[in-house]
Amino acid sequence: MFPVKKRVWLLLPFISLFFICALDSVAAEKIDCGKCTYSTWDWNTLKKRAENHREIVKPYTELNAEEKDHHSACTVCEEDQAAIVIEGVPPFSVCKYYADDVKKAVRKIVDAGFPVNSIISYRVGMSKGSVDNKGMRTQFSNHSFGTAVDINAESNGLYTNCYEVGGKCQLMRGGPWKPGQPGTITKDSIAYKAFTEIGWHWAGELQGRQKDFMHFSLSGD
Ligand SMILES: [Zn+2]
Repeated sequence: MFPVKKRVWLLLPFISLFFICALDSVAAEKIDCGKCTYSTWDWNTLKKRAENHREIVKPYTELNAEEKDHHSACTVCEEDQAAIVIEGVPPFSVCKYYADDVKKAVRKIVDAGFPVNSIISYRVGMSKGSVDNKGMRTQFSNHSFGTAVDINAESNGLYTNCYEVGGKCQLMRGGPWKPGQPGTITKDSIAYKAFTEIGWHWAGELQGRQKDFMHFSLSGD
């Protein structure tokens, strides 16, 4: 159908793509020819535990809509995360597009003398969204994309039945929230200031049933 010479020209884009993908990892990332790796699980709301643990490895081009964050260019892939190392803080990873911002915020917190004893960011799991007929959650959390950070969970718990901070709130995860203690996040704390400065939101001031005092996120949920 095509003369030999023309066929070679037709193959050229594929040949050059092959070399870019194989040799230049920076360019490869931009044209999405890498692979995506992550391990995940589903939260069973009836048994209150993580189940269906699985390792996923797939071509980056085959990511589905749920594996991509709707609020950013971040994904569930380990390849899209960047490790953050700050002296005096346990190492953690966040989505590479926000790594500079988050590093700046955490450094500001530590420099101000606010203790960061624990910090968890990137952690993939379906712990959000609607529940299927087996009681399993069906959506990836913000932590799955590396766009949420939990700071000092042991003193900034997650509460339910908590429309207003006070008597009826029930602690679901982490330790009791006691404003005034070192490492406790409040609206007056440097942690709140540093994260809201980079445009992230604090889940300690969420409207509705839950207050997640440890949690800052890009999207606000
Ligand atoms: Zn969180």
